[in-house]
Amino acid sequence: RGLTAYKKTNEDSEASGDTGSRIMVFVRLRPMGKKEEAGSRRCVRIANRRDVYLTEFASETDYLRLKRVRGRHFCFDAAFPESTSQQEVYLTTTTELVEGVLRGRNGTVFCYGATGAGKTYTMLGTLENPGVMVLAIKDLFSKIRQRSFNGSYSLLLSYLEVYNETVRDLLSPGRPLVLREDKQGTIAAGLTQYRAYSTDEVMQLLQQGNRNRTTEPTRVNETSSRSHAILQIITEYQVKDSLNVVTRVGKLSLIDLAGSERALATDLRTQRSIEGANINRSLLALSSCINALVEGKRHIPYRNSKLTQLLKDSLGGPCNTVMIANISPGHFSFSETQNTLHWADRAKEIRTKASSAIDETTDIPETGQTKLLLELQKENSE
Ligand code: ADP
Ligand code: MG
Repeated sequence: RGLTAYKKTNEDSEASGDTGSRIMVFVRLRPMGKKEEAGSRRCVRIANRRDVYLTEFASETDYLRLKRVRGRHFCFDAAFPESTSQQEVYLTTTTELVEGVLRGRNGTVFCYGATGAGKTYTMLGTLENPGVMVLAIKDLFSKIRQRSFNGSYSLLLSYLEVYNETVRDLLSPGRPLVLREDKQGTIAAGLTQYRAYSTDEVMQLLQQGNRNRTTEPTRVNETSSRSHAILQIITEYQVKDSLNVVTRVGKLSLIDLAGSERALATDLRTQRSIEGANINRSLLALSSCINALVEGKRHIPYRNSKLTQLLKDSLGGPCNTVMIANISPGHFSFSETQNTLHWADRAKEIRTKASSAIDETTDIPETGQTKLLLELQKENSE
């Protein structure tokens, strides 16, 4: 009986298009920079707020003549044209996840794309135009304050980076952190948790954290960020349901991935190639996990990189996950844009079913979900 009930909830949520059962995928096109305006032709167009057209030859006449011949069409949950505001991106992509987090679910948003495509702008933004990270915290504060039963709540922030397969604390830089598996998922031992009291201090804190990110000049882009940055927000507050006061705990992870351009685009004979290879290792591992999840494989290779270890409960576990694929408009970025759109298109197929994706290295009786399933199976046979 229990098992049937368990399965039913999963199917129901799928049928109703609940974000819990699949990854929501969005695309954001950034505006042309000043330099690009002069030398680059547009190769991306967005229509109907969800269709993305990629064309190799994109002068106005070429576009009209060739769009059906050389172009590729993609369709996403939403596609944001250049003029889209930070607020609109936040409201469309993340506000529902924040609702889930306040009900006790985990939520994850990650930005994927080549260096210079707008990932950090989308996640962190500027003082005048704050991005998803800051808007999410603001939203969490105001919603918790409205709902908290006795006014006691906490919002804990951790900000970490994965660079060269090493995990570092961005709020309190020091020695590399060790990852540990625990019942709630993967945790970085010794990571600082900063208690936030207001949104105003948060932007400063995150900007400081971002300055601690490892950035190296490369041939592709002088200030390309070579690290993956992960902001984790743990919320805890009390609500009154009919008779009892219950504590609700939720986790939101907001991730600014390193540039997805190929390592070969940088200098292969120096240190940079190692960094490139490691970044690729993490992103390669991410793409292998995406492939394995899409193909419904039983073994998902989360252990192949630090990034996928950290994303394990976001990709395959009971979590609402959003991917924002950032792309540039100019034809110089054509192949990177094509690559980003390819992976974004593939990520649409991922179903985050709590029961199907089990890491084969997991100690089976230890995990909460498996234990629950075993108990339900026992109850069924009884
Ligand atoms: P990434 O983090 O993907 O390498 P950035 O976020 O640093 O890229 O963006 C590259 C440049 O483009 C920055 O100068 C940034 O301010 C600008 N930019 C990116 N997206 C937008 C946007 N939506 N609106 C205005 N400027 C943007
Ligand atoms: Mg960046």
